[in-house]
Amino acid sequence: MQEYQRVWQNCLHFIQSQIDISQFNTWFVPIIPKSLQENNLTIQVPNKFFYEWIEENYVALLTKVLQKELGPDGKLSYAIVVQSPENHSTAHTNTKKNTSTLEKKHTTPFGFPGITAKKKDSFLNKNYTFQNLVEGDCNQLAVSASKTVAKNPGKTAFNPLVIYGAVGLGKTHLVQAIGNIIKNENEKSFVLYVSSERFTNQFITAIKNNDIQNFLNFYLQVDVLMIDDIQFFNAKEKTQEIFFHVFNHLHQRHKQIIMTSDCPPRSLLGLQDRLLSRFKWGLTADLQPPDFETRMAIINIKIQQAQIHMPLLVMEYIAASVQSSVRELEGVIHSIVAHASLMKTTIDLSLTKKILSAIVEKLDDQDVKIDFIQKLTATNYKVSVEDIQNKSRKKQIVIARQVAMYFCKELSSYSLQQIGNFFGGRDHSTVIYAIQAIDNLLKENKDENFLNTFYTLKKKLTQKS
Ligand code: ADP
Ligand code: MG
Repeated sequence: MQEYQRVWQNCLHFIQSQIDISQFNTWFVPIIPKSLQENNLTIQVPNKFFYEWIEENYVALLTKVLQKELGPDGKLSYAIVVQSPENHSTAHTNTKKNTSTLEKKHTTPFGFPGITAKKKDSFLNKNYTFQNLVEGDCNQLAVSASKTVAKNPGKTAFNPLVIYGAVGLGKTHLVQAIGNIIKNENEKSFVLYVSSERFTNQFITAIKNNDIQNFLNFYLQVDVLMIDDIQFFNAKEKTQEIFFHVFNHLHQRHKQIIMTSDCPPRSLLGLQDRLLSRFKWGLTADLQPPDFETRMAIINIKIQQAQIHMPLLVMEYIAASVQSSVRELEGVIHSIVAHASLMKTTIDLSLTKKILSAIVEKLDDQDVKIDFIQKLTATNYKVSVEDIQNKSRKKQIVIARQVAMYFCKELSSYSLQQIGNFFGGRDHSTVIYAIQAIDNLLKENKDENFLNTFYTLKKKLTQKS
């Protein structure tokens, strides 16, 4: 055994006694001692990440052990295995031993048990495109940034591109649409979509199998990395660390990185600052819940895709009832279509109402629906819903109608004209007049009777169970 090998053996012996066996296997076993000149020990690591990781995590330990072995002037140098553009790796100093480790590098972590995949599978769903993504005020910035990135991956200021928004607002759809374009226009480009959960699991498996090099080597080859739902990285320090390295490596090489999150990055608890600070290099764009018009457009696209007919009134009713997420909107449409076909009936408002009342309130009790407002207002004013919708000029009915219109404006996202439509097809000026009338009564603050009923109703409507 050469002197340098003996020194490294001793180092390993000590290191092994200091750290966890899986860490030892992952980070120290793959190291190959290369030479010892004066007090300088050179070790070979499989890639730059390895080096960075070791420097960051084990520098104190290494310094200690080197001083122990080589005296106070003991130094450590690294030789790093370099990767050429064709992804064939060559070591600075090529020994038999390390070529055999390196040959494994093309194994994909997606090939782990239970997941079968080809080497450079992108994991894209072709159905997610920009063509079937409705644009509106709610997603304008995110969509236009995404299109820019899709045209010029890695070459715009939007790197990384971070898209955040609540569940079901189209984050996955959007990033997959970017991936599909890039993939179509550049077949050779290695585009990879991966959920943060999967990334984490792959990393854990890699550690377990002592296969961290394959994991890293795989991710280092990626040209466009789309990583979905990074809130899953919260408080997972080691995963964040490895992701940080992958991120740096790709970013330095102008590879495009796209991430999504269900909340703004700054509110991601337990995400390390250095990772957060990287996000600022690019663009962070949000997705908001779609407004009424956008919801109508989305419903329209979905029914076209499903090749079904749905009366306008039904579409409006759905758009008014399901406000918080596009996924929920889709779910409702699917249910309605399924019911109609099972029951062999056409889709109409009464079927829709029945189905919605079974789903929507359970799915999202924030929704305030027009007919709910009308019903509750009618009950509180001791009139009927038909009274409210019809033309009666009786004082009590007029007040109830105006109050109902007032709350429709306050609690729904309908336009004035749409609200008018729900009140027997009145026009928007009637709705304005009603709102002003109620506003005046509230400002006068005199009519006890009116005020009591009004505020009791308001409480019921806004704390809807
Ligand atoms: P997220 O990843 O934010 O939870 P998804 O991307 O999975 O949301 O979207 C949920 C569903 O809603 C998907 O089927 C998607 O196609 C659809 N969707 C979301 N936003 C839009 C949109 N603007 N236009 C059309 N469909 C949309
Ligand atoms: Mg998603």
